[in-house]
Amino acid sequence: MSDCSWSSWQWSPEVSLALAVWVGIGGLIVWIARQSNFPGKYSFMLTHAASLWWILAAAAELAAQLPGCKMFLAAMAWPGIVLMPSLWALFLWQYVNSDYRLPKASTLARVSIAPFIFWALALTNPWHHLFYTAASAPVSSEPGAPIAYQHGPLFYMAAIYVYGFMLASTGILLHAALGSNGLYRRHYLAFVLVTLIPWAANISYVFFQRSLFGFDPTPFTFALSLAAFIWLIRRAQLFDVIPLARHLLLEALPDPVLVIDRQNRVVDANPAALQLADLPKPWQARAVRDWPGFGSALGELINSENDSPVSILKLEPDRFYEARVMAIKHRQRRQAQTLGKMIYLREITDQHKAQLQLSRALALSKERLRTISQLHEELQAQAIRDPLTRLYNRRFLDELFTRELRRAERDQAPLALAVIDIDHFKALNDRYGHPVGDEVLVYIGEFLRTQLRESDGIFRIGGEEFLVILPGLTTEQAQQRMSYICQRFAQKPITTREGFVSASFSGGVAAFPSEGHHFQALMDKADAALYQAKAEGRNRIVRASNGAYAKP
Ligand code: GH3
Ligand code: MG
Ligand code: MG
Repeated sequence: MSDCSWSSWQWSPEVSLALAVWVGIGGLIVWIARQSNFPGKYSFMLTHAASLWWILAAAAELAAQLPGCKMFLAAMAWPGIVLMPSLWALFLWQYVNSDYRLPKASTLARVSIAPFIFWALALTNPWHHLFYTAASAPVSSEPGAPIAYQHGPLFYMAAIYVYGFMLASTGILLHAALGSNGLYRRHYLAFVLVTLIPWAANISYVFFQRSLFGFDPTPFTFALSLAAFIWLIRRAQLFDVIPLARHLLLEALPDPVLVIDRQNRVVDANPAALQLADLPKPWQARAVRDWPGFGSALGELINSENDSPVSILKLEPDRFYEARVMAIKHRQRRQAQTLGKMIYLREITDQHKAQLQLSRALALSKERLRTISQLHEELQAQAIRDPLTRLYNRRFLDELFTRELRRAERDQAPLALAVIDIDHFKALNDRYGHPVGDEVLVYIGEFLRTQLRESDGIFRIGGEEFLVILPGLTTEQAQQRMSYICQRFAQKPITTREGFVSASFSGGVAAFPSEGHHFQALMDKADAALYQAKAEGRNRIVRASNGAYAKP
């Protein structure tokens, strides 16, 4: 220090060059400060502030004439020398991670510890000679001759520290280049190349004693790479053009878009979203839940468990929107971190209404179809039943008999047929009236139903004539069965509106296969037997005796 107060100062072209680089870097820092924000902008500026310090010390060392003063100024350069690569690594880290923030004070403090220690060690070199050995001396006896520095262990420690950061910087860039593609990859690879320039200069100085004006060329090459970087960033314009284009796109988009942060506050909304919410006033940082109109619906949607949920929102009075939520993720240290979400709304009122109408129409026609088929079934059921007794009518006789006959043939089982006619029904009608006659008809239907099996088919085939199909019974068995029913019927008085009424019936039975193989044949035989029953005095069941009785 004291040497510098005695030293004379000599202006030289080298000093001019160093100062020109200094002014150039200073100007570029001012210019960068005025540029639009890009990731790591502040650490980029700090990096070059450190290089300003280094170059200023270098220029002063070039101008100083006394060796002691030169060595003092060389020591003064160290905080700049060590800070610069650390800040450079910090800048690249922020740049590749799209971090636009100011570096934290704690980060800057941590990065500054080593530079200050090395600075102190360099300044105290005259006492320990561990930074530059005692053999360090001017290259010649000429005044102002550069010093040939002989490096001590502390110098190499500082160099290792600096190389550590240089290595980290290269690693960060290579990682970013590998993780990206196209324009971005070329951009990062160019960064790697430019970072290699100061590396080469520094290694050639430390290990091969290559110097510029008898001086460490590294700070000058940093000036070179600074210019190259500015050119790269400007040329790619990645961080200007792309966000601007995206911003313009969002502004012009007719669909509303909202960006929310991790606390579900709206941090950005395009004009369409503001218009939809009718929010001309400042709206920033409003909780998405509180957004007029659709806030509560969106609140539910963004809290959904789904990864990227889609839902249809109804806005009063009658507008429908399809809302899509996309997570905004940021990859850091291989971990994807969700920074917020983007909500994209698309009006689908027309489609939605058309869809609603369609599904309503579909539901209606389904309902109609159901009614029609129900009616159809009822009609079918009605068509084969007699409305008075609810017994089967003639329409169903053919179908059921054919089915039973087939089964009887297949199983080689008998199939009996009984024809029943109420005795003296005309007289009953005449005595009590037609409605009582009807009541007797209903009663006999019910009576037959309770007395016969589920599998037997009971038909009303005429006014007071009935037919029973008895599967599995022979003529004898059918006669027995029907005779039993006939007796019980005759014994039991019938309750009618006119009081108790007694009635009886007669019947004739015939069966497959003994009396025939077809309906008509069996029917004729049974009819003939019935005729016989009437003739024999009524209230009985007669079985067909295989042609023994002929109709008169
Ligand atoms: P028979 O013992 O010889 O059979 O004597 P019958 O009086 O029963 O003789 P017939 O079979 O000729 O008479 C049938 C009567 O049944 C004629 C008709 O008045 C009556 N009848 C037919 N259908 C109905 C009906 O739906 N309701 C009522 N109440 N009577 C009916
Ligand atoms: Mg009759
Ligand atoms: Mg009769």
